[in-house]
Amino acid sequence: MQFWQAVQSFFQSVWDTMVGVVKSFGLNDLLDILLVTFLIYKAIQIIRETRAAQLIKGILLLCVAWVLAQMLNLRTITLLLQGVFSWGIIAVIVLFQPELRRTLERVGRTKVGKLNIFSSQSEDEKQLHDWEHAIDTIASAAETLSMTKTGALIVFERQSRLGEQIDTGVEINAEISQELIGNIFFKNSPLHDGAMIIRDARILAASCFLPKPQKEELIARELGSRHRAAIGMSENSDAIILVVSEETGAISIAENGVLTRNYNKETLAKYLKDKIIPHKPEEKRERKLWRVKKK
Ligand code: ATP
Ligand code: MG
Repeated sequence: MQFWQAVQSFFQSVWDTMVGVVKSFGLNDLLDILLVTFLIYKAIQIIRETRAAQLIKGILLLCVAWVLAQMLNLRTITLLLQGVFSWGIIAVIVLFQPELRRTLERVGRTKVGKLNIFSSQSEDEKQLHDWEHAIDTIASAAETLSMTKTGALIVFERQSRLGEQIDTGVEINAEISQELIGNIFFKNSPLHDGAMIIRDARILAASCFLPKPQKEELIARELGSRHRAAIGMSENSDAIILVVSEETGAISIAENGVLTRNYNKETLAKYLKDKIIPHKPEEKRERKLWRVKKK
């Protein structure tokens, strides 16, 4: 009986609140709702792309359990769940630090990237050309490295700055060329160990140490430390990491904590161009045309 009374009073209070809300509904409330809807939509979009989806399901289940425990007046369980929630937040922050970091970085990037007020169109076009050349060169170099079974690890920096990793290596800051890439990864050369970092279509550094993946036990056993380092780096940033295996010559790519394998020169170049080359000049041109027409 007590249960049904609780259910009844719960729905009664929900109804009362709804009536109250409808009576005092204003334009700011509409704006509020639209904004919240948009935020929830964006949050779901971000969560779906990360391992956090499982975590959210777990938290929702705990929330349902807590509501039920409250309705049924199960005091110990309620208390226990409250404890889980307050300590759980700290556990979640510690366990999902890379995901949280990436998500916050993505939030910070949203607008500024689109406004792009600091670079002119010609700069953009130059960057586009530089990147196209860099990617074609790296794809050819990767093919050669693959054929000669020379191990390589190349990180393409995007929005997340990789200063931490660059500090562990040797700064080079050189134009990209097949010869230089071949030379750096050549067995026994002083810089062949570790990763090369590409920033702004240039070789910024080599011999850099990359972070380990968060959950090593989940990674296929046949993948050694080079492939694991690539996965680790992609978990900790939005960088794209190219790996050439010394053992098999296979070309792989790590992005967002996932490794995809068996690329060739063409598929690699296509993938990298799709992901890395900024598409802003076209957008800008469209906007300019639109303005001209309006006059
Ligand atoms: P391969 O298929 O090329 O053999 P693998 O995944 O089996 O690659 P290992 O054989 O263990 O990996 O490769 C070792 C090399 O990987 C090291 O010599 C080093 O150059 C590179 N490497 C390993 N760990 C890291 C790291 N954390 N950061 C940068 N480079 C690393
Ligand atoms: Mg190996």
